[in-house]
Amino acid sequence: MSKLIYMDNAATTKVLPEVVDTMLPYFTEKYGNPSAIYTFAEQVSKDVATARETLAGVIGAKVEEIYFTGGGSESDNWALKATVEAYKNKGNHIITSKIEHHAILHTCAWLEKQGVEVTYLDVDENGLVKIEDLKKAIKPTTILISIMTANNEIGTIEPIKEIGAIAKENGILFHTDAVQAFGHIPINVDEMNIDMLSASGHKINGPKGIGLMYIRKGVKIKSFIHGGAQERNRRAGTHNVPGIIGFAKAAEIAVAKMDERIAYETKIRDHIIKRIEDEIPYVKINGDRVKRLPNNVNVCFRFIEGESMLILLAQQGICGSSGSACTSGSLDPSHVLLAIGLPHEIAHGSLRLSISDETTKEEADFVVDELKKIIERLRSMSPLYEDFVKKQNK
Ligand SMILES: *Cc1c(COP(=O)(O)O)cnc(C)c1O
Repeated sequence: MSKLIYMDNAATTKVLPEVVDTMLPYFTEKYGNPSAIYTFAEQVSKDVATARETLAGVIGAKVEEIYFTGGGSESDNWALKATVEAYKNKGNHIITSKIEHHAILHTCAWLEKQGVEVTYLDVDENGLVKIEDLKKAIKPTTILISIMTANNEIGTIEPIKEIGAIAKENGILFHTDAVQAFGHIPINVDEMNIDMLSASGHKINGPKGIGLMYIRKGVKIKSFIHGGAQERNRRAGTHNVPGIIGFAKAAEIAVAKMDERIAYETKIRDHIIKRIEDEIPYVKINGDRVKRLPNNVNVCFRFIEGESMLILLAQQGICGSSGSACTSGSLDPSHVLLAIGLPHEIAHGSLRLSISDETTKEEADFVVDELKKIIERLRSMSPLYEDFVKKQNK
């Protein structure tokens, strides 16, 4: 098999051809600035409004509660920094978890330097936030709880509805980084008591560099990009019209296919997991088995260095990842795997395969077959493995 097998959809996805087609006219004939008042731009403005409506529908939000941003990272930064600013008279304490994306964690670290107090909740061995810990962490000064809907590395889906209910009971705002979940699994901002939500185009077969933030009506936060009056004065900058149109088209397709895709991906995912567990010794599947994104496989192989495994997989045309794309290049093991209690040496041998609805069973089987050979080869070169086998045989 010489073709590319792409199993890194948690890092980014391919833009669907239908999405590209929908976007193209907005680069050429429909290039008007939607903020302009002449007729030439009017249609563009209407199309942006329709796109906003489509995207609001994905999470049961009102149109006027959707704000376009430059992506998931911007939305995460905005939610945290602007909440701290707007609610400083109420308090300066934020609660988050140890397994958030770096767009949240590094923002929190920056906020701590500004004097904000941050509680980083532990998670259990499957990556689930413990509700009792959350309740205990709440103080009179707590202004925000930010917990991701689903984890980008291990695929664990957090108890968002329970967390939202607790936030509401305590009069605390609740933000969720839903970048991995938006368009992939059902979300309803009212049922889940979500006050702010981050989503991104390029994780749902849309374009890169476009995202949104849902901000519930009544939440006071202001813009942190200053300039023009776009987005109801809350996010300046000329609209990324092709991006917005493409994001909405991708979301429309994602919602229409959601049930079918969840069923299909779950089947392929579980097939990969089962084969790995049955056919490769000394492995550990990371993340919750049930509360799990349909497209996520995350596994640690003992006595294996993740980077070597990825290079050998890449030689077979297989794109996977160890940890998140943002941390590859650094030799530190993933903060998520450490947070679920894995020792360094095991966390180092991790592999994330994130599939799509285009992943075939043949591709899945090819990947597992290659993986078996690679693991065997790497272990045969590992002195640690040799020692381990000797001890086992005593
Ligand atoms: C990809 C990702 C982000 C960042 O989104 P960008 O649009 O790439 O800035 C944030 N959070 C999670 C959970 C992600 O997976």
